[in-house]
Amino acid sequence: MSLSSSQRLTPAAVREMAGARLGGPVRLFRAPGRVNLIGEHTDYNLGFVLPAAIDRYTYVAARPRAGRELRMASAQFPETFSLSLDQLKPLRGWGNYLAGVADGLQAQGLPLHAAELFVTSEVPYGAGLSSSAALEISTGLALASLSGASFDPLHLVRAGQHAEHAFAGTQSGVMDQFISTFARAGHALRLDCRNLEWELVALPAGCALVICNTGVKHELAGSEYNQRRQECETGVDLLRRDRPEIASLRDVTIAELTAHQADLPPVIFRRCRHIVTENQRVLDAGRAFHDGDFARLRRLFSASHASMRDDYEISCRELDLMVAAAEAAPGFLAGRMTGGGFGGCTVNLVRPELVEPFRSATAHAYAQATGREAEIIATPAAAGCEELL
Ligand code: ADP
Ligand code: MG
Repeated sequence: MSLSSSQRLTPAAVREMAGARLGGPVRLFRAPGRVNLIGEHTDYNLGFVLPAAIDRYTYVAARPRAGRELRMASAQFPETFSLSLDQLKPLRGWGNYLAGVADGLQAQGLPLHAAELFVTSEVPYGAGLSSSAALEISTGLALASLSGASFDPLHLVRAGQHAEHAFAGTQSGVMDQFISTFARAGHALRLDCRNLEWELVALPAGCALVICNTGVKHELAGSEYNQRRQECETGVDLLRRDRPEIASLRDVTIAELTAHQADLPPVIFRRCRHIVTENQRVLDAGRAFHDGDFARLRRLFSASHASMRDDYEISCRELDLMVAAAEAAPGFLAGRMTGGGFGGCTVNLVRPELVEPFRSATAHAYAQATGREAEIIATPAAAGCEELL
């Protein structure tokens, strides 16, 4: 199931629906999905990423309750979960995100309060727009706020990562939770995943963000993701033979990697080359956004896509066709696949006044090439998680 672009939620409607479900007034929280503008698979290699939040949110409504239980229902999934705050362990399905976030917050010293929770979302899931991080951060914000204790937004980021790693079983990096927590409207955020230093990057007025969802998600996404992580670690191990101080691919320059090409199996070399060159592209793109240099952004996005297709081998036919469809459409400024790969979405910069012709031309060309309907989402760069008062 994937949500269509026309299904939008308003805080007032969610508050009313949740109040009816939970039997009284609720506190309402939300956290956005995200799109990564550039910097793919660099986060777990401790490199740079440049995501923005999208104006699609996961809402969590909450009411405190007596006792030690968390109860949660979702408007999108039939299963409901009931778990004790004193015995949080991996469950199944989406309950893992609730249990994992609660466990992650308690492990950081936040004394949580029993609660009744209701979630509903307009972030398409499984499409690479990080509905899981939106769920983790909105749930984490609700639980932390209900606890009454003071907390640092970084607690939410850590708890979300803990849910992915220890409960859902995805060894993802820190980007998704970070942007869903810290995003600012009108900005992308350049994050250094090694030390979590970050900088806002204002998006110039001359471009709109347009996300094109291929509507496919190939089965190999999960296993290939973990394999890429492994291949990068192998690369680091081999490079460390010569330079033991290398801790991650972040510590390797393009010149150094090229000098060691003969020491690495060809596949490992290409995986490393994607990461090392992609880090540089993130830095270059930050400057190009600052300068409003769309010609440069086009080259950087295009080189990033080619690197993911040829060196990292995480693209697929539908993503390549979607990028080609967009490149030929009116208003196109820059485009590339985004997210983990093997399906999901492309991200495009489009002239704001030509978003509608871009949308119809891209959808038409994609349908002609694949027989599939593209879901096309134009979005401002949105703000991060918040309580709606
Ligand atoms: P992505 O994060 O790219 O959307 P994931 O596979 O990481 O894809 O996360 C999707 C999962 O997150 C869903 O299968 C579900 O378990 C959970 N999830 C997302 N949105 C909701 C929701 N509205 N209600 C309950 N669970 C959700
Ligand atoms: Mg996810």
